[in-house]
Amino acid sequence: KFMSGNELREKYLQFFVSKGHLRLQSASLIPENDPTLLMVGAGMAPFKPFFTGKMKPPCTRITTSQRCVRTGDIENVGRTARHQTYFEMLGNFSFGDYFKHDAINWAWEFLTKELELPEDKLWVTVYPKDEEAYKIWAEETSVDPSHIVKLEDNFWEIGPGPCGPDSEIYIDLGEERGCGSADCAVGCDCDRYLEIWNLVFTQYDKSEAGEYVPLAKKNIDTGAGLERLASVMQNKKTNFETDLLFPIIEYASAVSGVTYGVNEDKDVSLKVIADHARSMTIMIMDGILPSNEGRGYVLRRILRRAIRHGRMLGIETKFLTGAVDAVLKIYNGVFAELVEKQDYIKKVISLEEDRFHTTLVQGMELLSGHIEQLKTEKRTVLRGEIGFKLYDTFGFPWELTDEILHENDMTLDKDAFDKEMQQQRQRARAARHENTRVAIPDLRGLDTEKLLVDSSVKEAKIVCIWKD
Ligand code: ATP
Ligand code: MG
Ligand code: MG
Ligand code: MG
Repeated sequence: KFMSGNELREKYLQFFVSKGHLRLQSASLIPENDPTLLMVGAGMAPFKPFFTGKMKPPCTRITTSQRCVRTGDIENVGRTARHQTYFEMLGNFSFGDYFKHDAINWAWEFLTKELELPEDKLWVTVYPKDEEAYKIWAEETSVDPSHIVKLEDNFWEIGPGPCGPDSEIYIDLGEERGCGSADCAVGCDCDRYLEIWNLVFTQYDKSEAGEYVPLAKKNIDTGAGLERLASVMQNKKTNFETDLLFPIIEYASAVSGVTYGVNEDKDVSLKVIADHARSMTIMIMDGILPSNEGRGYVLRRILRRAIRHGRMLGIETKFLTGAVDAVLKIYNGVFAELVEKQDYIKKVISLEEDRFHTTLVQGMELLSGHIEQLKTEKRTVLRGEIGFKLYDTFGFPWELTDEILHENDMTLDKDAFDKEMQQQRQRARAARHENTRVAIPDLRGLDTEKLLVDSSVKEAKIVCIWKD
C-alpha cells in the first residue's frame, strides 16, 4: 500500500502517541551540551540526560522523528540502496517506563498491522545472550521462529553514554536483490535484507573510560529509518527513489541533462547530489555555517562534494540553490523553520558555491604549476604534503588532485597524504572540545556576507528544542 514519506512519519508518531507517548519535535542537529558528539546521529542523542537520570524527562514515554547526520556513511551514499548522510530517525523512547515486552510487541504491531508488511518477509536479530528478547519474539509475536537470528554485534553504543543489547528488524527484499554469495543471510551488507528498525534495550551507561555501568532504571531507545520504511512502502529499490529524495534527482537530472537509471556512475552522482542537498539545507537551517573546522567543515565538505558530483555530470554553472527549492517542496509543512529561513539558507549556499568555484580555479592553477615542475624533474609522484596543502589550505578536493594527476600519468603519494590527514583529524578532535556554540537570536536580519567572514562566529544557534 503506497504511503508518502510525510504520511509515514505521521502514522508512526500517532501510533506511539496512542500508546501514551509525548510527541516532541526533532531537536537541532547541533547537540546541546554534548562535547562528545559533532552532530546528532541518532534519535536518542538529545535524550542522553534522560537515560542516565541526570535530567527528568517531561514524560517517561517520548516519540520523535529526529533529524540525523552520519558523516561516517558518506562513502556509502549512492553505492548502497540504504545510506544517506542525512536521514530522519523515527523513534519511541522509554525512560524507566516500559521495557522489552512492549517495545517488541509495539514494533511488531506497527509493522504488521499499521503498515501491513508481510509477516513472512520479516526477520529479527537478537543479542546471543539476550534470552529474554528471544523469548518475547518467539512466544508473544507471530514472527516465524526460524526468522529469529542471534547476532554477536547486536549491541548498540555510540561513544560514551547509554547503551545496551539490541534487536533489529529486517525485511527480506528477495533473492534477486542479494549479493548471490552462498552465505548471504540476515546481517549481510548487500541489499537483500534491509535493516529497518533497531530496538535498543538501554541498560548500561558507558563511561568515558569504557566501563559498562548498569543503569538504575531500564530504558528503551528505538530507531527506524524513515527513508528506508518509505522505500518499502513505495516499493522502490533504493531510498533515493522515494518521494523524500527523488524530486532532487529530477532537478539535478533536468539541469545536467543526464537521465536517471541509464549509467551506474552517473546515478551515484545524482544520488550524492540528492542526499547532500538535503544535508546542507538542514544543517544550515539548524545553524551550522561553512568553515574550516568541526561541523562547519563537515558542511563545507558536503557542499563541495555535491558540486564536484555536479561537475561529473557536466554541470559547470551554480546549481545548488535550485536543489534547495526541491528540498523545500519535499518538506512542505514539515519543518516550519525551513520556510522561514529559506532565503538565508540559499544565500549561505550561494556564497559558498561562489567561493568554491574560485577555489577550483586557484587550485587548478597551483596544481598545474606542480605538474609542470614534476615534468621538468622527470618525476611522477606528487608529494603528499603538497596534496594535503591544496586540500587543507585551499579546499581543493584530494580526489580531484588525484584525478588530474592521473590524466598526466602521475600519482599522489597517498600514504604521506593520509598521514597529514590523520594529524589534521587529531587537531580537529582537540578543537571539538573547545567548539562552543555562539548564540545569535535571529539571523534573518543579518548581513550574511559579514557573518561568513567573521571567523569568531563558528555557528549560530537558531533553533529552540523541546518545542511542543
Ligand atoms: P546499517 O547497518 O544499515 O548501516 P545501522 O545498524 O548503522 O544501519 P542504526 O545505528 O541501528 O543503523 O540506526 C537505526 C536505524 O536508522 C537503522 O535501522 C536504519 O533504519 C536507519 N539508518 C541508519 N543509518 C542510516 C543511514 N545512513 N541512512 C538512512 N537510514 C539510516
Ligand atoms: Mg550503519
Ligand atoms: Mg546495522
Ligand atoms: Mg542497526
